[in-house]
Amino acid sequence: MAVLTTRSGGAFDRTPFEALVKRRLFYTPSFEIYRTASGFVGDTKGLFDYGPPGCALQANIVDTWRKHFVLEENMLEVDCTVLTPEEVFKTSGHVDKFSDWMCKDSKNGDYLRADHLIENVLEARLKGDKAARGVSTEEDKEKDNDPANAKKKKRAVKDVKVVKLDDDVAREYEEILARIDNYDGTELGQLIKKHDIRNPDGNNEVLPPVPFNLMFKTSIGPSSGSIGYLRPETAQGQFVNFKKLLEFNQGTMPFASASIGKSYRNEISPRTGLLRVREFLMAEVEHFVDPEGGKKHVRFDEVENMEVLLLDRHTQLAGNTETKVMTIGDAVKSKVIDNETLGYFVGRIHMFLEKIGVDMKKLRFRQHMANEMAHYAADCWDAELLTSYGWIECVGCADRSAYDLSVHSKRTGEALVVREAREHPLKIEEWQVDIDKKKLGPKFRKGAKAVEEAIEAVTQQQRETFHEILKKDGVITIDVPGLPEGKADLDKSLIDIVRRTRVENTRDYTPNVIEPSFGIGRILYCLLEHTYWHRPGDVARGVLSIPPLVAPTKVLLVPLSRSPEFKPYVKKLSSRLRTLGISHNVDDSSASIGKRYSRNDELGTPFGITVDFDTVKDETITLRERDTTKQVRASVDDVLGAVVNLVNGTEIWADVVKRLPEFVGQSEDE
Ligand code: AMP
Repeated sequence: MAVLTTRSGGAFDRTPFEALVKRRLFYTPSFEIYRTASGFVGDTKGLFDYGPPGCALQANIVDTWRKHFVLEENMLEVDCTVLTPEEVFKTSGHVDKFSDWMCKDSKNGDYLRADHLIENVLEARLKGDKAARGVSTEEDKEKDNDPANAKKKKRAVKDVKVVKLDDDVAREYEEILARIDNYDGTELGQLIKKHDIRNPDGNNEVLPPVPFNLMFKTSIGPSSGSIGYLRPETAQGQFVNFKKLLEFNQGTMPFASASIGKSYRNEISPRTGLLRVREFLMAEVEHFVDPEGGKKHVRFDEVENMEVLLLDRHTQLAGNTETKVMTIGDAVKSKVIDNETLGYFVGRIHMFLEKIGVDMKKLRFRQHMANEMAHYAADCWDAELLTSYGWIECVGCADRSAYDLSVHSKRTGEALVVREAREHPLKIEEWQVDIDKKKLGPKFRKGAKAVEEAIEAVTQQQRETFHEILKKDGVITIDVPGLPEGKADLDKSLIDIVRRTRVENTRDYTPNVIEPSFGIGRILYCLLEHTYWHRPGDVARGVLSIPPLVAPTKVLLVPLSRSPEFKPYVKKLSSRLRTLGISHNVDDSSASIGKRYSRNDELGTPFGITVDFDTVKDETITLRERDTTKQVRASVDDVLGAVVNLVNGTEIWADVVKRLPEFVGQSEDE
C-alpha cells in the first residue's frame, strides 16, 4: 500500500479530516435525526445531503467539467429522464446483468458484497501478519512520526488479529487481492470456502454468493403493471436519442453527447461515506466514432506525449499491482491502450483531474481484466484515486463498441446508424432473391410476411445452395419459424435466386462508443482528502487547499475589528466583489482575525481581504493567501485585480507576491 501523506508531508488521518467536513457542513448523512429516532426502521445508509460549501464545490467541479469537456469539444449536452421503462433496460442488458454478488450472514441476516467481504478479511489478515512479523508498513512508519497518531495507532492494532501467516498463504492473499475484480460468483464462493472467510462482524459463516440487481424498481403511472427503474447511469438516455443527435449534428461524425445528472444504485452495503452511495451525480460522455480505421482522434497529438501511470490487465492477472509510467502515445502504439480515441480521453481525464486540484501522485489508470469488463467492451480503463480507503475508481473510461446502439436498434426497428457517401462507389457481387409477392400473398395468407422475412434472412452461402436446388428440382424448402408447420415449399413461380452486381454509393455503419463516465461525488470526496492537511503541530488548524478555480468561496472579507468606521469599506468591497462575480463571505464577528482566517482555511477559501485602520487612512487593503498565510498590501484596485487574476488562473500567488508589497502586520496567532 502506498504511503498516504498530506501536502505537508505528514500522514493523512481520517478522524480530524472527517470532523472538519462534518463541522463545516460539506455534507451530512440524510435523515440523520430519524436515524436515532425511536421506532424508526428505514434504511438510510448510502444517502447524503450536501451543505453550503459542498454544494458550491460540487457546482464548481461540474462547471469546470462542462467547460473542459462539453464546451471544449462542442459536445451535445442532453438532460434525460431518470425514470426508465423496463423494456429499455431489458434491451441494454441491465435487467439481467447489472448485479453484484451478495452473501448473507448465516445467523444474523447481514447482507455483504462478496468481493468486498473477501477484500476486507484478507487485507486484515495481511495486516495482522505484518504486525506479527514486526514489519511496519510505510504508512505505519509515517504515522509513528506524527505524535498526534500515537494513541490511535495503539487502538488500530487492537482491531487486527496479530497472526503470522505462511509465506505462501500471504502471497496467495496478495494475488487474490490483485485480481479481486476479475472473479465471478462461483469463484468468489470458492474463495470464501477455501479461506474460511466469515462476516467480520460476529464471525459467522456466510451463505454462497447470489447475484443482486442494483437497480431500484418502481412502477410508472397508476397501473402497477408498467414497470420502471431509476436509471443506474445516464448513458442509455443518450443512446436512445442517438438518431436525433446525429441529425442535430447534420449527420457528421465523429461527435459526442454528454449528460450530467443523478443516477441510482441500490448498493448492497454502503459503508464508505460518499464513495459508495445509493444516489449520486454522474457526468458522462458518449463519443461516437467510426469503427473503421483504428478509431483515430484528430486531437490525439495534444495528449500523445503526456505521461500517465498505468496498471495494465496482464500485471493484475499475474497477481501484481505494479504500475508503470508511459506516454499515452507509446501506450496506444504498443496496444496497451486499445486505440487513439480511448487514449485521448485518458489524457483529457488526466488534465481535468489536475485542473480541479487532485494530487497527481495519487492518480493511476487501471485497466479492466477480461471478466471484469462487459462482454461487448473492447477495452476499459478506470481513473483511480488513492484515499484512506485505498484506490477508488472515480472515472470509468470504456470502449463499449457498437453494443448499445445495436441492441436498441434491433429491439425498436430504428436504424441507429450513420450513412456516409462513399468516395469510391463499392461494387458488390451477390445473390439476390426475387419474390413474386402477388402470388406469395394468396398462397400463404397470414403467414406471407413470416415467409418473406425468412427468405430475406437467408445468408449468401445458403442462397447459392438454394439457387442450385431451384435449378435442379424447381422447388426449395426453407425454415419459417413463424408458420405452424415451421417450413414452406417455394417453387420457381414464386421465387428466383440470381447473381447480380450491386453498386453502393453510401456506407451504413453503427458507430462505436467511447464512454468516459465520472462519479462527481467520489471525485469531490477524493479532492477533499487530497487537499486536506493541518498546520505543523496543530491538528486543530485543518486546511483544505482547494484550488481557487473550484473553491466553494473565493474570498473572505474581514474588518480588523467591529469598529463602525470599517463598515462602509466592507460594504463597498463586498459590492465590488459581487459585481466582479467573485463569491465571498464577510466575517465581522468578534473572533480574533487568526480564528476567522482559520475557519475559512477549513472551508478552503483561498484568499482573505482585511480592512484595517490603514484602509481608513489611505484606502489600501491586505490580501492573504491561504496555504502560505503570506499577505500583500496594496490599493483596492490592485488587490481586486490580483484576486480576479488568481481566480481566473491567469496569475499565481508567487507572481502576485513579486509585484505587490509584502505585508507583515496582524498576527494570526491571536
Ligand atoms: P460505472 O458505470 O460502474 O463504471 O461507474 C461510473 C462512475 O460512477 C464510477 O467511476 C464512480 O465514480 C461512480 N459510481 C459508481 N457507483 C457509485 C456509487 N455507488 N457511489 C458513488 N459513485 C459511484
